[in-house]
Amino acid sequence: MSVLIVGSIALDTVKTPVEEHSDLLGGSASYAAAAASFFSPVKLVGVVGDDFPESEFEFWKSRKVDIEGVQRVEGKTFRWSGEYAWDLNTRETRSVALNVFERFKPTLPPSYRKTDFVFLANIAPSLQAHVLDQMERPRFVVADTMDLWIETTRADLDALLRRIDLLILNDSEAREMTKETSLIKAGRRIRGFGPRFVAIKKGEHGALLFGENEFFSCGAYPLEDIHDPTGAGDTFAGGMAGYLAGNVSTVHFTDLRKAMIYGSVLASFCVEAFSLERLRNLSMEEINERYETFKLMSQFELA
Ligand code: AMP
Repeated sequence: MSVLIVGSIALDTVKTPVEEHSDLLGGSASYAAAAASFFSPVKLVGVVGDDFPESEFEFWKSRKVDIEGVQRVEGKTFRWSGEYAWDLNTRETRSVALNVFERFKPTLPPSYRKTDFVFLANIAPSLQAHVLDQMERPRFVVADTMDLWIETTRADLDALLRRIDLLILNDSEAREMTKETSLIKAGRRIRGFGPRFVAIKKGEHGALLFGENEFFSCGAYPLEDIHDPTGAGDTFAGGMAGYLAGNVSTVHFTDLRKAMIYGSVLASFCVEAFSLERLRNLSMEEINERYETFKLMSQFELA
C-alpha cells in the first residue's frame, strides 16, 4: 500500500560549526518522502516556486514518488536557514521566508484520495486537517507537529489530534503540550487528547512509544560522525509511516515497535551528510544491515 505525505518542501541553508551549505533540498515532506520511499510508494503533496530545481523532480521520480500533488506556482520556494551549536543538538533558526508557502492550500488529485496510509508532516494543523477532509477513510493517519503550532494554533491542533492514530513529536514539544515534566506522564496525557498511539523522540537518546497499556523504548543508533541533524525527525517519521504502509494492513503495537526501529535507522543515515545526500545514495541492504545491528545492540540476554 502507498502512503500520502504532505508537508513543507524547502530550499535550506544550514550552518554547523564546521561547514555551511545553501539552497539544499529540505522541508519536512522532502525528508519524509525520501525515507518512506524505501518501503512503499509515496504520493507527495506540497508546493514549490519557479526557482525549484527540475533535477529534484527527477530524483523523486527515480524513487517512485508520485509528484502529481506537488503544486508548482509562480514565486520563490519556501526557504529556511538554521545554525547548529557545537553539540549539533541546539539549533537556532536564522531566517524563514514562507514565499509560495504563504498561500498554500493542499489540494489532492483524485488519484490520491483513497490512499490508506497518511503522514501529515510538519505544517499548520489547519492544512493537515484540510488534507484529511479530502480523503476517503484512510486506515492509519500519522501526524507530526512543532512548538510553533502548540503555541499559536492550539485549538486547530487539538481538533486534529482527535482525527489521527499516531502523533510523533519531540520531548520538548511533549512537555510543552502537556505541562508535564515527566515524558511518561506526557505520553499518556497526549493519548488522552485523541491519538491511539504517541511516539516521543528524544534526539540522540532514542524514542518512546505509548499505546493502550503498552510501552516501548528504544535508543538511537550510536554514530561517531554527525554532519547535519536537519530533517532527522522528519526522516524518522517518514520511515515509520512508509514501513507501516509497505508491510502492515492493520496496525498493532508490535508493528509500531518495528516501524520505530526502521525510523531510527533511517534517521541515523540522514544525519551522516547534509540535506538528503545520504538518503539519495542509501541502499535497502544498508538499511537492513543497520536494523540487524540495532537488534543485537538492544539484546541484553545473550544465549
Ligand atoms: P527538523 O530538523 O526535523 O526540525 O526539520 C527541518 C526541516 O523543516 C527543514 O528542512 C526546514 O525546511 C523545515 N521547516 C522549518 N520550519 C518550518 C515550518 N515552520 N513549517 C514547515 N517546515 C519547516
